[in-house]
Amino acid sequence: MKNNINWNFDNSYSKLPEAFKEIIKPVSVLNPELVILNEELAEELGLDFSKIDKNELSALFAGNVLPQGTSSLAQAYAGHQFGHFTMLGDGRAVLIGEHVTSQKKRYDIQFKGSGRTSFSRGGDGRAALGPMLREYIISEAIHSLNIPTTRSLAVTKTGEKVVRENLLEGAILTRVASSHIRVGTFQYIAAKQNINELEILIDYTVDRHYPEIKSSKTKAVDLLNLVIEKQCQLIVDWMRVGFIHGVMNTDNMAISGETIDYGPCAFMDHYDPKTVFSSIDKFGRYAFSNQPPIAKWNLARFAECLIPLIDKDEDQAIKTATEIIDNFQNIYEKKWLNMMKSKLGLFGENKDDQDLINSLLNWMKKNKADYTNTFSYLMEMPIKDEIYNEKSFTDWVKKWKNRSRLNNSNKEKQIKLMKKVNPLIIPRNHKVEEALIDADKDNYKTLVRLLSIIQKPYNPKGNFSEFQSPPPASKEKYQTFCGT
Ligand code: AMP
Ligand code: MG
Repeated sequence: MKNNINWNFDNSYSKLPEAFKEIIKPVSVLNPELVILNEELAEELGLDFSKIDKNELSALFAGNVLPQGTSSLAQAYAGHQFGHFTMLGDGRAVLIGEHVTSQKKRYDIQFKGSGRTSFSRGGDGRAALGPMLREYIISEAIHSLNIPTTRSLAVTKTGEKVVRENLLEGAILTRVASSHIRVGTFQYIAAKQNINELEILIDYTVDRHYPEIKSSKTKAVDLLNLVIEKQCQLIVDWMRVGFIHGVMNTDNMAISGETIDYGPCAFMDHYDPKTVFSSIDKFGRYAFSNQPPIAKWNLARFAECLIPLIDKDEDQAIKTATEIIDNFQNIYEKKWLNMMKSKLGLFGENKDDQDLINSLLNWMKKNKADYTNTFSYLMEMPIKDEIYNEKSFTDWVKKWKNRSRLNNSNKEKQIKLMKKVNPLIIPRNHKVEEALIDADKDNYKTLVRLLSIIQKPYNPKGNFSEFQSPPPASKEKYQTFCGT
């Protein structure tokens, strides 16, 4: 393919030792058809697809024709899946290479659903259209909510069916990430007990994501601290908008601090800390309120990988790592409190802030109040719900207003702060389903409209009230299924 798109591949991962990857190309598909292309992201990447016709684009985003300069591979990694350790790897994805923009920003370009690899185990290496479009929608929503995330550049139908419970339309997602290095990547290399390769991985990760510690004499410790900081921030952001990742296995936790692997994820409607949408999460391991302790658990697995390079004396290394991991709670709680104070537009500090926040959360839980809309209501948005007239709520509002008057705040300043962090729009589960059902019938209008609305969550334009309504009451609990 002629390189008039502006691709600029430089493939550093492919130069890592053999143990890190399998050299492999995407498996060609029968009849590719581009379904959606993320023009805004293309522009950010400095890529221009406007001169390419649809057939060529379809062949490109299906992996049938690879751009010049790529060096494709499947990455090796391991992971604790629901607590159980397994050697994994890209079983249905291929990294075609790293595109470097004119601003020298490096992005992984990966095809997900691109066929079998040596890591596929029993799987077919393929993905279905619904879950790939779901990843596209939710990752765009997370990005628009100003939360670090991998992104979706395109979805292409393969023209082949995939066998799941039913026969489904096959599809490939083009995923863009600042890298795909995961906690599981470290676990894979650490499991091989080759200290030289572990060092290579640390150096590579630091070069790519944390160059500020490049010449540190305590690189492993510094890296651990930085990743903890990034992950705390990420989880606090998820908690801010009511996002439930759903499958926080260690292979789905990126070292960059980006949200990765959109499978059974979904946004919470009414506030309940125990909310779980994933059909396979029977015991609520990845429930909304479990996300912080699970992040800490995953980071402890990351710390374990680093032990040999934290200190030559193993006991000392374990002691150091344990102290760092134990500090997770402090970092997280501080960030969480600040975040919740912003959601309520509170400036300064007050000893009763935590209680004020908790009493609102308890009220929401007890009254099944919508998480997003409650904050919208407090920002004086037109939210119609009788629940906000109840005395239990108006009493709380009085306390909140009294607290708000402290610290030289005024209403304008307060609302300004709240508007930055409280979305009016989240991708509501029933709206996502609607878009996916229509897309399956080859009607993409609902999807396009949904995307246009979720791309401006803090200041939506036009008539968006239907996107604010919680799902209609239903006897059946909303369930999501792993990215099949
Ligand atoms: P995930 O649940 O998407 O994070 O995937 C967990 C692991 O299963 C990864 O190693 C994937 O590559 C692999 N996997 C998931 N689906 C498939 C599939 N259809 N074929 C092969 N491997 C898969
Ligand atoms: Mg995964």
